[in-house]
Amino acid sequence: MMPTNTFEGFLDLAGVDKPSDEIMNTCVRCGLCLQSCPTYVQLEVEPSSPRGRIALIRGVAEGRLPVDAPGFLHQMNECLGCLACQAVCPSGVQYGHLLEAGRAQAAAVREKSWLTKLIEIVVYQVLFMSPFLLRVFGRSMWLYQRTGVQALVRKSGILKLMGMEHSEKLLPKINDRFVYAQGQHFAPKLFTNGVSQAQPVLPKRVALLTGCAQSMAFAHVHEATIRTLRANGCEVLLPEGQQCCGALHAHGGDFERARELARKNIDALEAVSPDIVVVNAAGCSHHLKEYAHLLHDDPVYGPKAEQFVAKGRDITELLAELGPRPTQNPLTWHVTYQEPCHLAHGQKVTSQPRQVLNAVAGLKLTEMKDSAMCCGSAGTYNITQPEMAEKLLDNKLKNAMATGASIIATANTGCSIQLTAGLKDRQTPMPVMHIVEILDAGYRHDGLYADGTFDIPAEDDTQTKAIVAGVLVLTLVLIGWVLKSLWKRK
Ligand code: SF4
Ligand code: SF4
Repeated sequence: MMPTNTFEGFLDLAGVDKPSDEIMNTCVRCGLCLQSCPTYVQLEVEPSSPRGRIALIRGVAEGRLPVDAPGFLHQMNECLGCLACQAVCPSGVQYGHLLEAGRAQAAAVREKSWLTKLIEIVVYQVLFMSPFLLRVFGRSMWLYQRTGVQALVRKSGILKLMGMEHSEKLLPKINDRFVYAQGQHFAPKLFTNGVSQAQPVLPKRVALLTGCAQSMAFAHVHEATIRTLRANGCEVLLPEGQQCCGALHAHGGDFERARELARKNIDALEAVSPDIVVVNAAGCSHHLKEYAHLLHDDPVYGPKAEQFVAKGRDITELLAELGPRPTQNPLTWHVTYQEPCHLAHGQKVTSQPRQVLNAVAGLKLTEMKDSAMCCGSAGTYNITQPEMAEKLLDNKLKNAMATGASIIATANTGCSIQLTAGLKDRQTPMPVMHIVEILDAGYRHDGLYADGTFDIPAEDDTQTKAIVAGVLVLTLVLIGWVLKSLWKRK
């Protein structure tokens, strides 16, 4: 769609994608959200505040600003979507819904280079819509990292030349073993190593959303999730046919694909009739709980989404609900907790992660200053707004290090990637761990897993590996052919 200069307010996009008058009118401009907003705290200018952004959105809605006004487009990008403002707003302004709708409008008129368009098509419309192609990409990245090509590429300076030095640094370490949904079923395990726990009346049937990047770069977190849930009396299922949760699409304003992914996930996960649907990345667990809003205009999936959302839990929330079973042998780790925005602000889950950490005997938890202030990750924010993201990351790491802790605990994929990259840049050897990994380490330290009954069998990934190997051979042949032709011409 071409940019408009007619001052006629928002574009007519498909579906329910216009910012809602009702939400805008809830804001009474009291300003109580300002000091919670990371961008306002950094820049101290009104347009970079929640109130300022709502005023800009209202300006476009009322036709006083064109939808392609640079100030509006800039603010739709500069906002982190961290929801800190929403969490403190006394009027209950649903800022997240307003922002996503505003971003959909901005995305429709924003001018982009052909390269940006191509990258967005490959990433959002191809890879994140197909778990299989994403795995092929993941295996290629695994090869890139393990064969020494990454080190060569980094030294060669080509990344700087292509303007990709910063984003490449954020590539997480790909797991040797992926954990993705293939219809696996894991029974509850309640008695091991002489430590017993009363059998619950009905073990909970839990379906795990394995997500996109988590299956490949945080497969160890999936394994810890499965083991700890089984140790707490749950049967765990990984239903086939599930997809990426769609958070990145919704945050980027691509509601149609976000809805398509939501419908597929509801069908796939509900097919095993779970009591609970659990997610171990806070950004994704928050988005899963937004499915009812996302699909509220859909006569078929709207009611289904409401039932589905009622079953949704973040893993920290579920473990806290279950107890969790405390560990026995002291694990003398010193930990500080960085709160993911979409857990603390988006879901108001704040005490549960600490409850899980407190179940680990011997563990010392020291709170950091501003633990719920965004670390600058925020989906793709650390790529699109690197300067602001770096400022926020620097504050976060300074606050974490000031605690004297030797481990940063968190509960979201994006935060882990951002914190790990920041610590590496600063040459600080401080591990970043998911909370569920810490509880899992406690159970392992107790010897709970010693008899091998909690082992998770390797997935059959032969097809992906075969395709990656084929593509690699073809690429090498092509390079060889090009080099040979060049040599002949000489
Ligand atoms: S968003 Fe809420 S807290 Fe912020 S100015 Fe509006 S009413 Fe006040
Ligand atoms: S979502 Fe975060 S960055 Fe955006 S206005 Fe609200 S507090 Fe500020």
